[in-house]
Amino acid sequence: MPDTPESAYRSLPSVDALLQSDEVADLVRNFSHDSVTMLARDVLGKARAKIKDDNESPSVDAMISEIVDRADRAWGAWPKQVVNATGVVLHTNLGRAPLSSVVAKAASDSASIYSDLEFDLDSGKRGSRNAHISNLLAQSSGAEAGIAVNNNASGVLLTLAAVVSADPAKTEVIVSRGEAVEIGGGFRVPDVMRQSGATLVEIGTTNRTYAKDYEAAITPRTAAILKVHPSNFVVEGFTHVPELADMVTVGKKHNVPVINDLGSGCLVDTRKYGLDQEPQVQDSVSDGAALTLFSGDKLLGGPQAGLIAGEKAWIDLVSKHPLARAVRIDKMTLSAIAATLVSYLKDAHEEEIPIWKFISTSESAIASRAEKWRVETGAGQVERARSAIGGGSLPGQTIPTSVLAIQPAGSVDSFAACLRKSPIAVVARIENDRVLLDPRTVMNDQDHAVIEAIKFAMDQDSR
Ligand SMILES: *Cc1c(COP(=O)(O)O)cnc(C)c1O
Repeated sequence: MPDTPESAYRSLPSVDALLQSDEVADLVRNFSHDSVTMLARDVLGKARAKIKDDNESPSVDAMISEIVDRADRAWGAWPKQVVNATGVVLHTNLGRAPLSSVVAKAASDSASIYSDLEFDLDSGKRGSRNAHISNLLAQSSGAEAGIAVNNNASGVLLTLAAVVSADPAKTEVIVSRGEAVEIGGGFRVPDVMRQSGATLVEIGTTNRTYAKDYEAAITPRTAAILKVHPSNFVVEGFTHVPELADMVTVGKKHNVPVINDLGSGCLVDTRKYGLDQEPQVQDSVSDGAALTLFSGDKLLGGPQAGLIAGEKAWIDLVSKHPLARAVRIDKMTLSAIAATLVSYLKDAHEEEIPIWKFISTSESAIASRAEKWRVETGAGQVERARSAIGGGSLPGQTIPTSVLAIQPAGSVDSFAACLRKSPIAVVARIENDRVLLDPRTVMNDQDHAVIEAIKFAMDQDSR
């Protein structure tokens, strides 16, 4: 360590010397000379500031690794792989549903080719990008037709806009007070309603709404009845929500369509997995909803998308609305949606779709993985806990799991931060001042990454 600021400044490498180090020279080859030079200058500038403030300069190695690190963060592959050890199956911050390899391959295959996306090979004329999905949605849900859009939020906006545009004299949409909810991420039913041009007519009370409340609110201005799955909260106790079928009866009597925003929506019976029953798309269709809306990347376990299944006349109206073009889905996602729906049609979702694999993994299989992590790291103990479903579906619903529970010597927050700093970031859950790692949501080939991250964090913890 040089003992005067002058010698410290003099000992700093030149920009050129930094650029000539093996690691930085690699960066220059992969990115551009100018941008890497700018980074190197910036890192040197910081080193000078450190000498000025602390009379101490970082080592050349530290400067090089800072350059490499910053280049990687700025221009490297994104988003980065993380290990989801939270046990939350649909973690919105971690990208919700991971796709199966079959589905991911469908998306990447269609990405790099020309295709008959909007081309009819028989006639040689323009085709519809929606026809194939419409058929698959019809087969999976029992509806007449369907359409896929960007996400369910845009599906709701588009549907409302289309339904109120059908007749200028009809702009009112009836919603129960208990369902005029905020789903999260700024998605509030009353706001979306306003944006769509619909006039919200709230009925019932927060906890109790009856079919007769809908009927009493119907006027010549009524465009639709909207049912919204409250998704991320439950009202318990003295509550009443009418059956969808009863709402449809009221609607049919007055020629008013019922739109059903299922939120997550599910094609399988979740009771089979020890969960409460999440409303199924097929039931909504058979109960007579004119349009049923659900997400592609919640319990369907596919890519981000909004799926709408329903009566052909309503689907046509929705498809032709100008907003449909604004929320149009891209070809890669369309391929992924198609492959996801085929997994269900083949009844192969449990083997093929990762979220169903995770949800259906037995507790004993999970426990033996947690035990393997414990044995390999010598850290913590294996305990029974609960995994959450997440993603705004099945609120409060958990399934039994086993976790590796670690009580660090230092703070749990710094231990968790260390797990995130390892080469493949591991995201854990903190509960009762302990760090919990749940194997349920950890991919099979990520065990090594978890073990390395725990070892790294233990090492830092013991210092
Ligand atoms: C999640 C959710 C949405 C939004 O769906 P995205 O696919 O996230 O856009 C809309 N409505 C309900 C009821 C939801 O649960």
